[in-house]
Amino acid sequence: MERQVQRLRQAFRSGRSRPLRFRQQQLEGLCRMVQEREKDIVEALAADLSKSALNAYSHEIISILGEIDFMLRNLSDLASAKPAKKNLLTMMDEVYVQPEPLGVVLIIGAWNYPFVLTMQPLVGAIAAGNAVIVKPSELSENTAKLLAKLLPQYVDQDLYAVINGGVEETTELLKQRFDHILYTGNTAVGKIVMEAAAKHLTPVTLELGGKSPCYIDKDCDLDVACRRITWGKYMNCGQTCIAPDYVLCEASLQDQIVQKIKETVKDFYGENIKASPDYERIINLRHFKRIHSLLEGQKIAFGGETDEATCYIAPTVLTDVDPKTKVMQEEIFGPILPIVPVKNVDEAINFINDREKPLALYVFSRNNKLIKRMIDETSSGGVTGNDVIMHFTVNSLPFGGVGSSGMGAYHGKYSFDTFSHQRPCLLKSLKGESVNKLRYPPNSQSKVSWAKFFLLKQFKKEKLQLLLLMFVGVVTAVVVKKYQAVLRKKALLVCLVVHRLHWSSKQ
Ligand code: NAD
Repeated sequence: MERQVQRLRQAFRSGRSRPLRFRQQQLEGLCRMVQEREKDIVEALAADLSKSALNAYSHEIISILGEIDFMLRNLSDLASAKPAKKNLLTMMDEVYVQPEPLGVVLIIGAWNYPFVLTMQPLVGAIAAGNAVIVKPSELSENTAKLLAKLLPQYVDQDLYAVINGGVEETTELLKQRFDHILYTGNTAVGKIVMEAAAKHLTPVTLELGGKSPCYIDKDCDLDVACRRITWGKYMNCGQTCIAPDYVLCEASLQDQIVQKIKETVKDFYGENIKASPDYERIINLRHFKRIHSLLEGQKIAFGGETDEATCYIAPTVLTDVDPKTKVMQEEIFGPILPIVPVKNVDEAINFINDREKPLALYVFSRNNKLIKRMIDETSSGGVTGNDVIMHFTVNSLPFGGVGSSGMGAYHGKYSFDTFSHQRPCLLKSLKGESVNKLRYPPNSQSKVSWAKFFLLKQFKKEKLQLLLLMFVGVVTAVVVKKYQAVLRKKALLVCLVVHRLHWSSKQ
């Protein structure tokens, strides 16, 4: 592994990954890979998560094509030097921020969206000019194997590599020195990754999980709210990091919510959910047993059917859930939706704030003020009001967690920035030593006063314009005074000529 990282570092040092044309070619290669090998990708996702071809396309492939397209269209702007504000001391100099690649970066992916969670950060890391090692999750082994096979066929092999393996291989990989690590997965392993990174002072982006709450206000269109919640909760069989984990609402709404979600489940997946091509399975037996155990002692309002042989768990809703029970102590990451009754919005806000900061927060209400209030009085990685999941799809928004749901963010411009160093540059000329004397020893009170004037004086644009106008006024006055006699003669001459012309035109 050490040799492999070394090989990538050498390729990065050669400077090959930096030119924009090269980055574009690699992104175009990735785009070709997705388009030409779509069938293989879809098959791997079906084998890993029982995902239908249509779901594979809409859950995973579309976002990657969108991300590549964004980077190709915006790369030259993102990578360009950005001029920065000057102060009086640097008025004559060049001042700008130049994004530069970090070096060799490591991307560790999770299994629940195995293609998107490795490819989307890869797009950003390539666009920013880095060399990259991708470590897909071993749990989604078909996608992992496919990525290792395909990537070298479409992008530069010396700069971008896939390393496959489980805990042992990842532990070994984390001993190496990287210039950035982006990890997606659970919080416990996030801590391991951060500890390993700290040994090399490597910065990390941690895309973690948590229990994302969903508050439903009594002033709400429950039909719409329940349809959207059902979609986001049971998509990918509940194995979505930003799925609504549980519902908070007034007790009087519970029965209606159950009824509406039940009807929507039937609309979406039919009478026989098991036979629906739109309903996935739990990734493996370990997770199946973990999720199954969360049902113990709970009031199942509907669903609850399971089939161990195929890792099937039906869309399930639990009512009157006690916050102290196991299902409310850990991220569910499966198709179980607990409803926890609260008295009002104040109690809902306190409930959320009493717990770790979630990755997402959802609020459903007709009252925009209430939605804004919940945003103001809580904290979460992201928010969608009156819908779920959708903030993930807007690539002008940063995607990431806060507190125990993660640190840092990516998607679109934010991916580019995550994998770049914003390098401040100041280019001075060798002239202007008279001003520079201010900072050379020996120091004096007048030098300090001048330095204060140059560095602390904040000139607003309007103030500068006024000063310029005054300066022009003074110069004009001086010029007029100096050439007063000549100007007077010229003015007289102009008057005579005008008078004459006027007279001759009348005749
Ligand atoms: P996982 O088991 O695939 O683990 C993630 C990665 O960590 C894998 O590549 C794995 O090889 C590696 N890993 C596991 N144990 C390790 C160890 N001891 N040392 C080093 N590396 C190790 O995925 P998971 O953790 O089960 O993923 C589910 C979690 O990820 C959920 O909490 C979910 O919310 C979160 N998640 C977050 C996002 C996000 O974007 N924020 C996206 C998807 C999933």
